[in-house]
Amino acid sequence: MERSDSHILVFPFPTPGHINPMLQFSKRLASMGLRVTLVTTQPNTKPIEEAQSNYPIHIEPISDGFQPGEKAQSVEVYLEKFQKVASQSLAQLVEKLARSKRPIKFIVYDSVMPWALDTAQELGLDGAPFYTQSCAVSAIYYHVSQGMMKIPIEGKTASFPSMPLLGINDLPSFISDMDSYPSLLRLVLGRFSNFRKAKCLLINTFDMLEAEVVKWMGSQWPVKTIGPTIPSMYLDKRLEDDKDYGLSPLNLNVDACITWLDARDIGSVVYVSFGSLASLGEEQMEELAWGLKRSKGYFLWVVRELEEQKLPSNFIENTADKGLVVSWCPQLDVLAHKAVGCFMTHCGWNSTLEALSLGVPMVVMPQWTDQMTNAKFVADVWGVGVRVKASDEKGIVKREEIEECIREAMEGERGKEMKRNAERWKELAKEAATEGGSSDKNIEEFVKEILCS
Ligand code: UDP
Repeated sequence: MERSDSHILVFPFPTPGHINPMLQFSKRLASMGLRVTLVTTQPNTKPIEEAQSNYPIHIEPISDGFQPGEKAQSVEVYLEKFQKVASQSLAQLVEKLARSKRPIKFIVYDSVMPWALDTAQELGLDGAPFYTQSCAVSAIYYHVSQGMMKIPIEGKTASFPSMPLLGINDLPSFISDMDSYPSLLRLVLGRFSNFRKAKCLLINTFDMLEAEVVKWMGSQWPVKTIGPTIPSMYLDKRLEDDKDYGLSPLNLNVDACITWLDARDIGSVVYVSFGSLASLGEEQMEELAWGLKRSKGYFLWVVRELEEQKLPSNFIENTADKGLVVSWCPQLDVLAHKAVGCFMTHCGWNSTLEALSLGVPMVVMPQWTDQMTNAKFVADVWGVGVRVKASDEKGIVKREEIEECIREAMEGERGKEMKRNAERWKELAKEAATEGGSSDKNIEEFVKEILCS
């Protein structure tokens, strides 16, 4: 069978942190000659269509059960309706394409939607879940889902095979604070409800980064590490892909950010972003703002539109000589810019992988979900970050602490060591993605398996 006759359906959960890596993976498959259709819900479709270029992928919008702009009453309501409507739409789409010249051969679905595999298998298709979080985090959820680790966790630490001892605050917040988000806890644990029926598990990481835990997960089920899913132009430069901003708000501020960075010295800017979902409290936002000002260096800060009203009054005007505040930025271009000295991040998995792959040290300020575990690895295992400490029970990180951590990362001895380590991870990330590297080989093998199935 010709590669171009092999039609793969890729179905991410509809948030940027899930769509972006699965979109990049889709492009990689398309670059290998496969036909790829990415399924997404309507409101997210336009930016993706605009983003695709040299390796075209077909976009199929489906409904998530909500009108554009309509908000669900709760996460639980959203998830329930999404599953019901999207699984029906998925089945209809597969059936429609079965009557076309290019029937679907295989489905790569987001691991948080195990029902997609059930739907696919009812229609005679095989599938593989795509894990958008680290292998360590997935292994933790695996243990809990299989009853190998009981929650709530007793004591102050938790021990998992092939991982350092984790404190309670290093665990994903859905586990350490299991009553706060019961429906999200069910969602992440549900990822292991039917995974044994899948062809293999695709994980957005690379072997050298999580060597031991990848090996351990591999002893449970066929695991394929395929990361980092960063466009080739930022990494091994093997593919001729265009600049690509994945799923982004239309106003990316590309020129504003890059022109501003161009005018700064090498390593003189702190880039600050908390991703697409995390929301800081007003008090924390204020402490962060004054912490940045106190550090006396330059900063480029992404403050999403909805968060902007939490900034101290006149902050932007008062710091205009030192800082640029934007509602969204081309993060990969920013991290790749030589003016950026460190990244103050919430430690979302994509941001973490992007910083590691571009050799940027981090100041980590995790907020919730898997960010706590990522922060632990960034600071204590990979040696590329310093983690801020909250000074009170409310969990507020004070401006003095923020200032000190930024100075440590930008100026101190530890900062230099972090930079050396970050450069090493950058090389290893590139090696994994380059022809013959571990992730590259796994992707090749995956494609061969699909073609032969
Ligand atoms: N991102 C971006 N511009 C921004 C902020 C974020 O392009 O101003 C991208 C970032 O590069 C990453 C994604 O949005 O790919 C955020 O994913 P992550 O897993 O880090 O965090 P989440 O948004 O899921 O919390």
